Amino acid sequence: MTAAQGRSIRDRLLVGRPVLNRVDELRGDEGRVAAFWADPSATVLVLYGDDVELQEASPIPTLRLAPTSTLGTVRPDAAFLLGLDGDAPVFGIVDDTPSADDGDVPSNRASLRQIGATLSARDSELITTTMALGNWHRTHPRCSRCGAATVIERAGWVRRCPVDDSLHFPRTDPAVIVLPIDPFSRVLLGRRIGWDQSWFSTLAGFVEPGESAESAVVREIAEEVGVEVDPATVQFMGSQPWPFPSSIMLGFHAFGRSNQEPKPDGEEIVEARWFTRDQLFEACESGEVKIPPRISIARHLIEAWYGEELPGQWSR
Ligand SMILES: [Zn+2]
Repeated sequence: MTAAQGRSIRDRLLVGRPVLNRVDELRGDEGRVAAFWADPSATVLVLYGDDVELQEASPIPTLRLAPTSTLGTVRPDAAFLLGLDGDAPVFGIVDDTPSADDGDVPSNRASLRQIGATLSARDSELITTTMALGNWHRTHPRCSRCGAATVIERAGWVRRCPVDDSLHFPRTDPAVIVLPIDPFSRVLLGRRIGWDQSWFSTLAGFVEPGESAESAVVREIAEEVGVEVDPATVQFMGSQPWPFPSSIMLGFHAFGRSNQEPKPDGEEIVEARWFTRDQLFEACESGEVKIPPRISIARHLIEAWYGEELPGQWSR
């Protein structure tokens, strides 16, 4: 792989380029956090389900950040401090109030899946962080030790149990996503159970407790398609927060010996095929094969190997 390709995959990843100053050191300072909320430049991103509101829908979607004053002069407990954008404080909050009408989604709302591929680096960081923290608060209202309702501290980055004083932190679940490559520079793509006949992608799975990311790569490929890769060849290509609900995808290329016939496990992967560059281009061009959308690290792993963009994509 050339240096240029190495740069391009990271440049083109959804996020990972830090824009916000996350001011971890100030999260515990209630006075500063209150002052941030009251700052005239302070804004808040509201998460409705998996959706956010857009200021502009095209050509490049931009998020609508409301002045914090629209939610009151005092910060609601549930509002979390995302950080400073320049000098301007930015907060996030979840609004799970059922819509009053017949359930139609307002037309100015969209989800990360819909708009993520074209968002600015700042908006990508805002929406992925808001989704990840919001999903965690939604699903972790109680202490995992004693079951008591926990209280939110450190501007939304910790929940503390008032009974046993235990601290609970937002979780991020690491998953590996990998493109196996053989000595002839062919790649192995798999089709997951339940997918359309034409959909193919990289292989993926969660890192298990006690396991390195490299070991998870080797294990997942062996489990899902019965192909061996050499752990010494596992090459980190970039990462992508994937807050559905709380993952980070660690992307890899991994290399194995030739002439390994894939044996799909039938449980997760029902079909797996090796592709040369020409074969994959032709299959994508004709629509026989559809690869994941441009928002995904899976596609970037494939295109980093291919050397340029490929045609077509699947859409859910
Ligand atoms: Zn407790």
